[in-house]
Amino acid sequence: MSRVLAIANQKGGVAKTTTAAALATAFHDRGRRVLLVDLDSQACLTFALGVDADAVDASSHDVVLGRAVADAVVVTAEGVDLVPATLELAGLDAAVVDRADRDLLLRTALAAVADDYDDVVLDCSPSLGVLTLNALAAADEVLVPLTAEMLGHRAVGQLLDTVEDVREQLNPALTVVGLLPTMVDLRTSHARQVVADLGERYGLPVLGPVPRSVRVAEAPARGRSVLATAGRSAAAQAYRDVADTLLTGR
Ligand code: ADP
Ligand code: MG
Repeated sequence: MSRVLAIANQKGGVAKTTTAAALATAFHDRGRRVLLVDLDSQACLTFALGVDADAVDASSHDVVLGRAVADAVVVTAEGVDLVPATLELAGLDAAVVDRADRDLLLRTALAAVADDYDDVVLDCSPSLGVLTLNALAAADEVLVPLTAEMLGHRAVGQLLDTVEDVREQLNPALTVVGLLPTMVDLRTSHARQVVADLGERYGLPVLGPVPRSVRVAEAPARGRSVLATAGRSAAAQAYRDVADTLLTGR
């Protein structure tokens, strides 16, 4: 049975996509069979792993609507299987709005490949719309990347409320595995204090942090994860440590 990990936060620019690519690569490097699913119509993960979204036969849009995962899988340079995203995803909410099972479509699709993968990593879009609900309904675990800048906002609390709703209505087993501070400037005492306060503030495990690094920002343009382009950087090491924490006991 695969373990499904959703990387979710309805704020954009908090390193969801970066985290999904890095953790999937780290799991793969540990010998696990990994499936990545791009659930953002902007297809940043797809492009960041060197796949041309305009040239794919099938996408996560088609998989959510019932097409077999294998029809859509592209093997990335990292060796990780990817279900790419295309712009079509932007129309999915409207396409499924009248279906009673609209929040469970991804769960059904992934159940069919549960024996083919050890880990499934879902890169969510920056919204709490139907695609993110599908991801949370399909997931065993959710990891919440965040930046120090967003702690003044209500976004984390809103996301945790949504997780609670999903738990009650769709997926009782869903667990928040932790908060992951990203793009942290560890040289400032403010950033260190923010990280230190996080766990107490939300009563959740705090993983990482992942330091801010130009190496991370450069990786997508090369179509690879930071583990491949700068494997010895502190950010890559932080992601390997997070992956190992998540794999503990598996
Ligand atoms: P999201 O998927 O949440 O919108 P991304 O993963 O696309 O966020 O990251 C937003 C931007 O921040 C991207 O340009 C990415 O390359 C950059 N970024 C992510 N993590 C880091 C980091 N640790 N250091 C520097 N830049 C980062
Ligand atoms: Mg993203």
